[in-house]
Amino acid sequence: MNRKLVTWLDILLIVLFVILSITIILVFSSSGEGNKAVISVDEKIIGEYSLNTDLTREIKTDYGFNTVVILNGECFVLDADCRDGICISRGKISKVGESIVCLPHKLIVEIK
Ligand SMILES: [Zn+2]
Repeated sequence: MNRKLVTWLDILLIVLFVILSITIILVFSSSGEGNKAVISVDEKIIGEYSLNTDLTREIKTDYGFNTVVILNGECFVLDADCRDGICISRGKISKVGESIVCLPHKLIVEIK
């Protein structure tokens, strides 16, 4: 009887702990959402921009150009002169860990 009660309490504590953990993770991930866009070329960071501020930045390198836009908390490549155009078709990113890669231009835009 006693042992059963303890087991029940254990389960209750574990459930509460899991709910608490999920809540913490959700709070963290929602506050982490749309933090900043980190733009790098050739693995060198050339700019960090907050997603809260709208901006258009044209990145010109020896490889070509990419027009990176931050609008309404989302980041995307509006225009580029690369051959494949994958960076443009990648669309909008806004969540931490998402990235846009332009292989021909060695350009990476990452949300951090
Ligand atoms: Zn591209």
